[in-house]
Amino acid sequence: MNDKCNICGNEEFKHVSTQYIYQRNDSLMVVQDVPALVCTSCGEKLYHIRTLKQIEGRFDAIYQHGQPPAQQVLIPLESWNMLKHAS
Ligand SMILES: [Zn+2]
Repeated sequence: MNDKCNICGNEEFKHVSTQYIYQRNDSLMVVQDVPALVCTSCGEKLYHIRTLKQIEGRFDAIYQHGQPPAQQVLIPLESWNMLKHAS
């Protein structure tokens, strides 16, 4: 892992577990409790390449090989063009 933040150059990071949203084309997968390092200065998140590969592999398993996800949720989808006129 980097020991310097790519964005602000800070050298202090905190271990957190966070939500990761993986997107490819129009398909999404949300993964909870993903380990990451967060820059204590600017909040930039860093993920281990192995973590990202595992998420990508799971995405392929679900979308290409039809494996059932642990959970499935309905996500509201809006268009800003509609929202901006509503109030
Ligand atoms: Zn930073």
